[in-house]
Amino acid sequence: MPGRLPRAKRSLGQNFLVDGNLQRKIVGALGPTPEDRVVEIGPGPGALTDHLVGRVAHLTLIELDRDLAIDLGDRWGQRGDVEIWTEDVLDVDLPARVDGWSGVKVVGNIPYNITTPILFHLLERPRPAEIVLMVQREVADRIVAPAGGDGYGALSVGVQSVADAELLFGVPRRAFRPTPNVDSAILRITPHGPPRISADEEVRLRRLTRAVFQWRRKQIQKTLRDHPDLGLPREVVDRLGQGIDLTRRPETFDTDELRTLAHELP
Ligand code: SAM
Repeated sequence: MPGRLPRAKRSLGQNFLVDGNLQRKIVGALGPTPEDRVVEIGPGPGALTDHLVGRVAHLTLIELDRDLAIDLGDRWGQRGDVEIWTEDVLDVDLPARVDGWSGVKVVGNIPYNITTPILFHLLERPRPAEIVLMVQREVADRIVAPAGGDGYGALSVGVQSVADAELLFGVPRRAFRPTPNVDSAILRITPHGPPRISADEEVRLRRLTRAVFQWRRKQIQKTLRDHPDLGLPREVVDRLGQGIDLTRRPETFDTDELRTLAHELP
């Protein structure tokens, strides 16, 4: 990283990672090899980028902050193996723009306020090979939560139904400047390749999970019957109830059970 950190812009969720050991550990978790194509989201002043340049076949840096992107260009813009895109990652059609997207590794210390949109953007089809992201500790816990666990909900099912998600290690708030008021964690998300469920099933499962976790306190049979986005006929709910106990609350249903229920949606 350059000697002096730039002034952080709160509006862009800038908290710069200043702990060198953690920077190395995060890049190590991505396991970069000379054959890899890597996309880094929000490189900022280059905390992770520094450990990636020259170690991978190709690096694409996507940074929304124009000033920081200019500095990145000054440092690495001349290299043939580094590209810098000054854009909002959410507006980038990644599969269309990034060569060999399905084999790409993605890394990023991303702004907390857009963690979920970025994650779902990355998990649209087709998906990259691997994603290592810094997220708020509490969000990481929700993403990896097993059925019945604290925080298990639509986010957990949304990610776990299309990828393996692992919480690798925590990152204390003191590792950043300015210091945020939450702790963070590093997640490794490995999309299933090939996907285990069809695109159509994914859409139904998303519709189901949104509805059932919106009505968290209700027995799932009531939500299946009465929720305006579901409205399954009573006979269907009764038939399903013969194989699965539908008096339980949604947080006790694992991804496979939810898939079975989602199958019945029109
Ligand atoms: N990677 C650096 C580090 O670890 O110190 C910076 C991390 S900072 C938490 C998040 C970075 O994402 C900032 O550089 C910010 O400008 C950038 N950013 C914010 N919103 C973005 C967006 N929508 N698309 C791309 N980059 C964005």
